[in-house]
Amino acid sequence: MNISPAPRKRVVLLGATGSIGESTLRVIAAHPDKLELVAVAARGNWEKLAAIASAHGVRHVGLFDEKAFAAARAHPAAFPAGTRLVGGLAGLVELAQLPAADIVLVAVVGTTGLEPALAALNAGKDLALASKEILVLAGQHVLAAAAKSGAKLLPVDSEHSAVFQCLEGNPHASVRRVTITASGGAFRDWPVDRLTTVTPADAVKHPNWSMGPKITVDSATLANKGLELIEAQCLFGLRPEQCTAVMHPQSIVHAIVEFTDGSMLAQLCPPSMTFPIQHALLHPARAPGVDAALDFRKLLTLDFRPLDEVRFPMLRLARETMTAGGGAPAVYNAANEVAVASFLAHQIPFLAIPRVVEHILGQLSRSAPADLPAILALDQEARRLAKSEIENRESRI
Ligand code: MG
Repeated sequence: MNISPAPRKRVVLLGATGSIGESTLRVIAAHPDKLELVAVAARGNWEKLAAIASAHGVRHVGLFDEKAFAAARAHPAAFPAGTRLVGGLAGLVELAQLPAADIVLVAVVGTTGLEPALAALNAGKDLALASKEILVLAGQHVLAAAAKSGAKLLPVDSEHSAVFQCLEGNPHASVRRVTITASGGAFRDWPVDRLTTVTPADAVKHPNWSMGPKITVDSATLANKGLELIEAQCLFGLRPEQCTAVMHPQSIVHAIVEFTDGSMLAQLCPPSMTFPIQHALLHPARAPGVDAALDFRKLLTLDFRPLDEVRFPMLRLARETMTAGGGAPAVYNAANEVAVASFLAHQIPFLAIPRVVEHILGQLSRSAPADLPAILALDQEARRLAKSEIENRESRI
């Protein structure tokens, strides 16, 4: 009998030049018989994007930043012959709906990926989602778009990939609790009073994962874990009290699902994003991984510690945000993005990040946006208020 091989999945990668993008390229390169890269996009690094497009023979290329788009257009020889270059948000949306694509991996920083993600789902493309802000901001809209078109929504964040894998084959009603793990970030062992002295240079050193500066600061404040709890609540249809986090310094166990009978399932793999990325891209198939698996012939110790909400106020604020619902997740995310950018620009101290977020959550506590334009307006309003709060703080110093 002549069995033809399964067709290759055609992948669009939005956010190709960042750390998730780099890991995704390694996964795709390792499985040339299963995956084909058909489009790439980045924010502004057009030279790196041109090198990626050339290495993978990709002829659909997008640049979000208009200046970078113009620079790239001025250097057509840097790209493979016949490249179609698109720019701005409209360009990313176009790539997300590319007829010659099966799955779109969205790994652009912040909320820029929201419209492309929705466009992919509306066009019936499976969506591998690495940008957690998208579900935090507009989770219900993303889930509704997936349900309507029948496209799959596949988490790329390591914790959500872990929950997804543990839940497969188990009825929703049998889930008691989902616990995601947190490495504790750069300052997990610092005394609380020393946190007043944290500089941007300290905060971008992560003990286990290599990531961009924004997400590394979010790991240090645990805002990252807060966003992930909100994301898990949405993605898996859980109540706020079913979503918890625990400190696990080794980042080997990524999530634990507890069932009503008290049994727990956990997912383990080394802290490399290639594992969840490959799971999302090949789902439901499995294939040899890019990085080595855990080796039990070597000593492996797994520690779990309760997380302290006094030390990590962003975690308490995330819990309050999940309970409040409505527009609170969008406000939490927007205020945090502004506060982190201000910290990285040396405008506010590290410990002011949660204070700014709490203040803006209080100011916008009654917001309940009815539709997507209202959510985007609330996102902008939260950013505006956070910026003005930070300016006022500076003038008080
Ligand atoms: Mg994560």
